[in-house]
Amino acid sequence: CKRNAGETEFLQAVREVLESLEPVVEKRDDLVKAGIIDRIVEPERFIQFRVSWVDDNGTVQVNRGFRVQFNSAIGPYKGGLRLHPTVCASVIKFLGFEQIFKNSLTGLPMGGGKGGSDFDPKGKSDAEVMRFCQSFMTELSKHIGADTDVPAGDIGVGAREIGYMFGQYKRLRNEFTGVLTGKGLSYGGSLARTQATGYGLLYFTQEMLKSMKKDSMAGKTVVISGSGNVAIYATEKAVEMGAKVVALSDSNGYIYDPNGVNLDVVKQIKEVERGRISEYVKRVSGAEYHEGCKQIWTVKCDIALPCATQNELDQESAKALIANGVIAVAEGANMPSTPEAVEEFLKAGVMFAPAKAANAGGVATSGLEMSQNSMRYSWSFEEVDSKLKGIMENIFHNAYNASKEYGAEGNLVMGANIAGFLKVADAMKWQGVAY
Ligand code: NDP
Repeated sequence: CKRNAGETEFLQAVREVLESLEPVVEKRDDLVKAGIIDRIVEPERFIQFRVSWVDDNGTVQVNRGFRVQFNSAIGPYKGGLRLHPTVCASVIKFLGFEQIFKNSLTGLPMGGGKGGSDFDPKGKSDAEVMRFCQSFMTELSKHIGADTDVPAGDIGVGAREIGYMFGQYKRLRNEFTGVLTGKGLSYGGSLARTQATGYGLLYFTQEMLKSMKKDSMAGKTVVISGSGNVAIYATEKAVEMGAKVVALSDSNGYIYDPNGVNLDVVKQIKEVERGRISEYVKRVSGAEYHEGCKQIWTVKCDIALPCATQNELDQESAKALIANGVIAVAEGANMPSTPEAVEEFLKAGVMFAPAKAANAGGVATSGLEMSQNSMRYSWSFEEVDSKLKGIMENIFHNAYNASKEYGAEGNLVMGANIAGFLKVADAMKWQGVAY
């Protein structure tokens, strides 16, 4: 059968990267001769496994687990675990592929990996989530390790799930190591990891506004999709920088609060009660709730930050944002904009920050968690946060400079792909081909 048949998300991600690499291919014959392009699109290893567990009614449930170990040229595989019913081989491979370049951009020694399951944590009891996580880790533990592959959280995997998985790994292996990141603070987690992706997104956006347009976040109106980990901490930092966030969403619909969303209320609903965003309007007067998450992009704003999921912002949404005067779009989620939407933004001269650069703050801080675990030491919140800020500013400049060097100044999609690729490609070349 055809290689990668039906893997639409994976093929979309590969196409986007390879198109950006055309100028590199022209300049770097050494990389072409080393077969880097053909090698980099093929995972080093793809693991799929059965995850059976027993629900609260005593019924046996079966899910499918995945881990892709995509590329280890510059460090141990690193990337999150996603628990969502839409998880399949294509989604895991697209995420793992993107992760290679994102991790490279952070400047830290991390290879690319990703994993997860089609298990849906929504509506499950704590005990069910625990039994699932233990069963999942029983198999995954055979393939990971602090110097081999270090998973983290992603959609549906937060501190609770990481805790259950870490506990199971430790039971099975009798080892207390930094095998997972995103751990609780009492057992090896890093301060500022929870905030890192959202904060990092804003550090990147601020640097982009400053360097490209001598502008800043202060006084801007912002729309953020999602209301999970990334969206919440993006909101927090945007407000701290003097912006007003007027809309947030979940997969059912979005809220619009012209006065600026009250983040304490959102945190109570999403982080404490694990409820729906529609609850917000019952608690805050003057706010509106609208069914359907896509319409969030019709809300007028200066800055749009898609922070929910892949392909959530299409061409029609991009046109609506542009018509309403958006000046910058920065991706907090992975591949949230469709290729047609990205084209609209670039054509209209909207500053566009692609995910692999703009949301690298999460994995960068995971890298810092690995360093702290190896040292058996922990840095203060301020130390981690200031390292994160430095990393995000560096990523912006590396991507920007690469875009300039390769003849597409300001096109950060190309710049990020090229800068991320070159480091990995050189490492692969120097490590030789195994026959
Ligand atoms: P969470 O699970 O905390 O939140 C996800 C949010 O997105 C929820 O509001 C969820 O709504 C919404 N969402 C999920 N699927 C869909 C969908 N199909 N349509 C519309 N909305 C949807 O995840 P995170 O905040 O951690 O992750 C969000 C994005 O950021 C993902 O793309 C992830 O890969 C990316 N990312 C996360 C990092 C991290 O450190 N957490 C690091 C780098 C990237 P609902 O509750 O209704 O499902």
